[in-house]
Amino acid sequence: MATVSLRQEATELLQELIRVDTVNPPGNETRAAELLREYLGDHGIESELYAKVPERANLVARIPGKAGGPRLVLLSHTDTVLADPGEWQLDPWSGELRDGQVWGRGALDMKGQVAASAVAIASLAREGFEPGGDLIFAACADEEVGAGFGLQWLCQAHPEAVRAEYCVNEGAGDRLVLEGRAFYACSTAEKMSSPFRLTVYGRSGHASRPGIADNALVKAAPLIERLGQFQDGPELGPEVEAFLRTVTGTVPAPEDAVRAARQVHPLAGDIVEPLLGTTVAPTKVVASQKRNVIPARCELTVDCRILPGHTQAEVEAQIREFLGDAEYDFRWIEGHGGTRSPLATPLWDVIESFVEEIEPGAEVVPLLLSGFTDSHWLRDAFGTVAYGFFPMRTMEAEVAARLIHSADERIEVEDLELGVRFLRHAALEVGALPSDS
Ligand SMILES: [Zn+2]
Repeated sequence: MATVSLRQEATELLQELIRVDTVNPPGNETRAAELLREYLGDHGIESELYAKVPERANLVARIPGKAGGPRLVLLSHTDTVLADPGEWQLDPWSGELRDGQVWGRGALDMKGQVAASAVAIASLAREGFEPGGDLIFAACADEEVGAGFGLQWLCQAHPEAVRAEYCVNEGAGDRLVLEGRAFYACSTAEKMSSPFRLTVYGRSGHASRPGIADNALVKAAPLIERLGQFQDGPELGPEVEAFLRTVTGTVPAPEDAVRAARQVHPLAGDIVEPLLGTTVAPTKVVASQKRNVIPARCELTVDCRILPGHTQAEVEAQIREFLGDAEYDFRWIEGHGGTRSPLATPLWDVIESFVEEIEPGAEVVPLLLSGFTDSHWLRDAFGTVAYGFFPMRTMEAEVAARLIHSADERIEVEDLELGVRFLRHAALEVGALPSDS
């Protein structure tokens, strides 16, 4: 009976959260924070709203620890990316329950986990749960854009609200089947998102007489082509090494990593390939605004993801050397993320014990993410062991990957319930750890 009601509770809360439009920009996450405050209040948990501007609040709630044990934060974000209703079969903000799935923008990324985390802490509070260290629920604003209203700001302005030894966030949890064996991915690290801009200069002129000008776009073309060939490494970080050991049974030489993974399953090769070094991908080019004017300037934007443990300065030197003698200005646009948590931790054991419970024989594999999550801010500020894990096994990982940030996003109620079970398990297990863990 208890399970049935938690499932219902999480489903209804998720439906309500989806109906609150928190597309970022502009976000308006305060409305979601207030909905959560009311829900938690109904179950005897007080919440604090922290807002840099009134309409973009972050919510933090906690069950205080009784024995000075390690703190665990169940972290999530309440904002979503936009949705074009014209592409959807259902209204993206309907929160409709259809065939065992809750539909709407944010169902997977990540209002489902917001709802599951809230139900986990609320149900534990009702049961009188007394953790050794604080159990914290943090539903933050502005993860999708990162304009300084969310966890980054919270860690600076109110560090005591979210300081914790352990964190469970988004990032992974999908079930992979490789050669008949089941694995659940847990993200423990992420690359640094570090785009840069190359500017090439020439001399403008009328396009009817190309000979009198110096065309910056044409000068940029060989650089674009060269960047398309950039290959770093290969190098095996601890996450990829552990992934390969678990999946292939050995640790191949870095040069053989993709081949060895692919032999097990093409998907394993696809996972490993971008994680062996820095990647660069030219994505935008701006030159002349007029058809008949030869550009004096061409600006090239390049997406770049750097492995944890490497710096922008190192990568800049590497790219300059790779591009050779050409003339251009190089400028980093930003650099976010690039942190890792260790693999052998009590939180890892907690995830393993859960997977053993739901699917005996399945294994947990670590994952280095090529994208960014808010886990970075906690690792950076407090050295928190932050993992991305929200188990999902009813919806296939490839299906979910296609729905995130896309049309017809939806979550299986079965998976939502599994998430509540996992988050309760994590809270109970971390809450029972001794004070020096
Ligand atoms: Zn997200």
